[in-house]
Amino acid sequence: MARMIGCQPMRSPRDCMTPAQRKKAMRSNRGRTGPERALASLLWQEGFRYLTAEGYRRRYGRRLLGQPDLIFGRKRVVLFVDGCFWHGCPKCGKMPEDYGNAFWRQKVETNVSRDERITVALRRDGWKVIRVWEHDLRRKPDLERTAHRVSRRLRRKAD
Ligand SMILES: [Zn+2]
Repeated sequence: MARMIGCQPMRSPRDCMTPAQRKKAMRSNRGRTGPERALASLLWQEGFRYLTAEGYRRRYGRRLLGQPDLIFGRKRVVLFVDGCFWHGCPKCGKMPEDYGNAFWRQKVETNVSRDERITVALRRDGWKVIRVWEHDLRRKPDLERTAHRVSRRLRRKAD
């Protein structure tokens, strides 16, 4: 197993990113990732229909605030998959060596406050906002649990 860095004693090592995972997280800010696609396809299999940010833009000719990863239009639910590094996950992101550099720390803090503003604004517009951490999609059991949790919340919303 790759050496984990940045784990705090009280946390499980598997929740922390390996250097390779962290590098990848830094490269792809909000790109479509494998785990995100896996979640999307599980939800599709469950019968939920959605648009991606790009699909939404193509259909409506405009972007939805914050460009949610999945948009369940009829249910008026949006889902964001937040990358742990970029969105300041308290479980595996915020560690001194990750954000030791003031530039990164500032960038992540900006992202976190923007995420909050976007969530509030979307809710005000009548959207239900679901945010999922990337670390909850990384391992298959976590991915399935997360998909289950999301589909329960979606079922509660009538079309
Ligand atoms: Zn995380």
